[in-house]
Amino acid sequence: KLGNATIKAELGRSSWKLLHTMMARFPERPTKDQKAALRSFIYLFSRLYPCGECAKEFQMILEKHPPQVSSREAASLWACAVHNIVNRRLLKEEFDCSTVADKYKCGCAAE
Ligand code: FAD
Repeated sequence: KLGNATIKAELGRSSWKLLHTMMARFPERPTKDQKAALRSFIYLFSRLYPCGECAKEFQMILEKHPPQVSSREAASLWACAVHNIVNRRLLKEEFDCSTVADKYKCGCAAE
């Protein structure tokens, strides 16, 4: 049986991968409706994320750093920045956001 911490970490890796890949595939010039959809998704994600402590923390981050949905680049950089805020809080290394587009471009990040 997996320990609790292992489950939380596995859920986190899968979730970040989904989020960053969604941003990499978000339209470069989204319509109003696409922008609204991404914004709603992020807020609903922050409510429904199945780790209560993480969800609460993420909602507080969103208050200070609302989703940027104006373009693919804005959304990708926003997701990278909020992931870095979580990284910092968990004493993990910061990720270089200038490489985020390349890493998730094809929906097949190396790891
Ligand atoms: P992860 O942080 O899961 O990252 C996976 C991979 O993404 C990394 O190996 C790296 O290649 C890449 N990456 C790293 N940083 C970035 C970045 N800034 N942008 C793009 N790619 C990047 N865990 C807790 O214990 N407490 C919490 O409060 C908590 N809150 C979370 C909130 C959310 C919304 C999510 C999605 C996860 C949360 N987690 C939390 C889980 C935590 O963030 C990690 O996913 C987990 O600890 C596993 O970490 P990891 O070192 O394997 O890499």
